[in-house]
Amino acid sequence: MRTIMHVDMDAFFAAVEVLDNPEYAGKPLIIGGYKDSPRGVVSTASYEARKFGVRSAMPLRQAALLCPQGIFIPGRMHRYQEVSHQVHSIFPEFSPVVEPLSIDEAFLDMTGCEHFYSSLEEMGTCLKQRIREETGLTASVGIAPNKFLAKLASDWRKPDGLFVLRPHEVEGFLRDLPVSKLWGVGKKSEEVLHKHGLYYVRDILPHSLTWLQERLGAAMGAQVFNLARGLDDRPVEPWTDVQSVSNEITFPEDQDSFDFLRQQLAKMSEKVGWRLRRQGLYARTVSIKVRFGDFRTITRSHTLEHSFNDDDTIFQEALHLLQQVKLKPVRLLGVGVSNLSEGAQLSLFDAGSGGSASKLTEVMDAINRKYSHGTITRGRTLPQSDTPEH
Ligand SMILES: [Mg+2]
Repeated sequence: MRTIMHVDMDAFFAAVEVLDNPEYAGKPLIIGGYKDSPRGVVSTASYEARKFGVRSAMPLRQAALLCPQGIFIPGRMHRYQEVSHQVHSIFPEFSPVVEPLSIDEAFLDMTGCEHFYSSLEEMGTCLKQRIREETGLTASVGIAPNKFLAKLASDWRKPDGLFVLRPHEVEGFLRDLPVSKLWGVGKKSEEVLHKHGLYYVRDILPHSLTWLQERLGAAMGAQVFNLARGLDDRPVEPWTDVQSVSNEITFPEDQDSFDFLRQQLAKMSEKVGWRLRRQGLYARTVSIKVRFGDFRTITRSHTLEHSFNDDDTIFQEALHLLQQVKLKPVRLLGVGVSNLSEGAQLSLFDAGSGGSASKLTEVMDAINRKYSHGTITRGRTLPQSDTPEH
């Protein structure tokens, strides 16, 4: 039996702004852009702003209508990264097995560390106190036998929450949750479950694994079957000494359509970008790897002046490299980034250049984090039938 702790900072960007600008305390604060910015979306809303119905990923204009008295600011990614590093540097004091999940979240495997504390509640309280001492900010903590349950638990008493879920309490805790709380259940699977009259986790329990798999597909059916029972055996995976992040795909048949390869590059660029951002890393070099039908393999790379972690830069650079390769039927294609660092050399939130692309990425990441990666993707990853050949 594992003991997993999930830590999630409360309204992180907004909380950092209040920390640095005490005059914002207790006010509805909306990070993402100015009120009249035509294309922006909300990145984070303070709890006061959430009372007006303002949510992450909502267009700023809509937020301004819901909460006209709100304080709208573009945000300072550099500063959030800085505080994020402070927070993440506390976790190794508690466990050697830490998986950073995002700029303000992590899983800690606390298995075997239980006896250092008088109770699991004390364990959670200690971490919350350390974060508060070190940063002045509040976090919510969930402690449970696995990652899925720990993440639900940290959300349960937010903000400044602490919730411990013990094995014998799991069944009762899950019963009355809506099916959408199960990881991976997005709009499509939810619709299928609703169609069969399954609205709450308890409604899933009477159905067999096969019954669920027939309706949701093999993988999703099994996941829903297990998660409904509170079963999740994924280990906490620490990111250590990452030198590069890459993704590659071997095609079942050799491919010679440039459009198809471009589409694959776009998909892989999103995956690589997502993994970079998930680890709070930036890269300076993009590489591609191409294996031809005759098994000859080449790599090409390009290093930029500035660091980046957005899908667009990765994709554009990879595409540029691919365009310079004399194409023959391709068996394998890969995209990678290297020259990694923990700090950005450009601000994601600076008004003007590149701001909205980064905000889009931020919102896509938020959605993908919630519903599993790939839920939302850019149009260029889809087949384009009438794009002219390059
Ligand atoms: Mg958070």
